Amino acid sequence: MSGSSQPFIPFTRPSFNQETIEAVSEVLRSGWVTSGPKLAEFEASLSTFFGGRPVRCFANGTATMKIALQVAGIGANDEVITTPISWVATSNVILSVGAKPVFVDIDPVTRNIDLNKVAAAITPKTRAIMPVYLAGLPVDMDQLYALAKKHSLRVIEDAAQAFGSQWEGKKIGSFGDLVSFSFQANKNLTTIEGGCLVLNNPDEAKLAEKFRLQGLTRQGMDGMDVDVLGGKDNLTDVNAAIGLEQLKQLPTYQTRRAALARQYFDVIRAELKAAGLENLQLELPVENFTESNWHMFQVVLPLDQLNTDRAQVMTELKDLGIGTGVHYPAITGFTLYKNQGYKTSDTPIAERIGKSILTLPLFPAMADEDIGRIAKGLIGILQKYRKN
Ligand SMILES: *Cc1c(COP(=O)(O)O)cnc(C)c1O
Repeated sequence: MSGSSQPFIPFTRPSFNQETIEAVSEVLRSGWVTSGPKLAEFEASLSTFFGGRPVRCFANGTATMKIALQVAGIGANDEVITTPISWVATSNVILSVGAKPVFVDIDPVTRNIDLNKVAAAITPKTRAIMPVYLAGLPVDMDQLYALAKKHSLRVIEDAAQAFGSQWEGKKIGSFGDLVSFSFQANKNLTTIEGGCLVLNNPDEAKLAEKFRLQGLTRQGMDGMDVDVLGGKDNLTDVNAAIGLEQLKQLPTYQTRRAALARQYFDVIRAELKAAGLENLQLELPVENFTESNWHMFQVVLPLDQLNTDRAQVMTELKDLGIGTGVHYPAITGFTLYKNQGYKTSDTPIAERIGKSILTLPLFPAMADEDIGRIAKGLIGILQKYRKN
């Protein structure tokens, strides 16, 4: 039970309009509910969104990234460079194709992989870089692709959180190598569960389709054959119908997210000043309103200036009716990874940020007043626990 009389604000919540409910009903009534005409329409719309590049959809973002690795031919004895601050799916898919994740520390400002540290991690076994655009903020794409070119590496972009983000006026996904998105319920565009991969050419798209359905090369009156190990990772027409409606709503959602993020910066700074906490090192996100899609608004708590920990801050915010999240602790601290010899201390910035990062609520249906309530709540807690 919340101790607050005000309604609980979750850290995120998807928005579905009446048209979406109608679109789903129409698919259910049509008699064709699994992958079919709606999926084809969704993939075509996504391809248009990404400037005409081939796009294929999958059951979730995790399957999308795994298939991206398979399309790139990455497997046993290969190394893939990635970030320790991500949803564990990023490195799990690298392990699942038999390759080895190599973790490079993050930039404390962007909280993304520090591209300046990538070259030192490249070995003769390195095949690809898998950057993650945390909270929707891209890395320096010129630097990324210059690195890849120089060292002859594939790039598999984990753009799960970056649907609608841009780089120098170009949409993430509209250029580059293999670009993977997730449509999971928390993401800026959702199909409930789902994902899509932007590919380089029709041959790669064909290969992705094969991995998506059991490795089938043909099926029909001329018989059936399978030549690679594929899975069952298709997206259904019900999900695709939701995605088509979400795509129409995206600009509205996007504008709202940016406006709410803007308010966060203003209100948090005003509250810190009013509380006399200007020297508290509360780290805000990069104030990037041209490139980020504002998938999340994350702060890094100044734990060494506080007589408390993140869990207590989260508990007290919850008591005020405010939901928060942790995205993410360093992957290298998980038992599976520790057992393989990884250590969080190898990437000290990721280790610190993984312990102190906090996601505040941000979703299109939030009210303006919510931002004030959240900022006041957070700053009040920081003031209470400030070390003298
Ligand atoms: C959501 C997410 C994924 C995985 O997507 P699912 O659709 O949940 O499988 C991968 N990487 C990152 C960074 C994500 O945020």
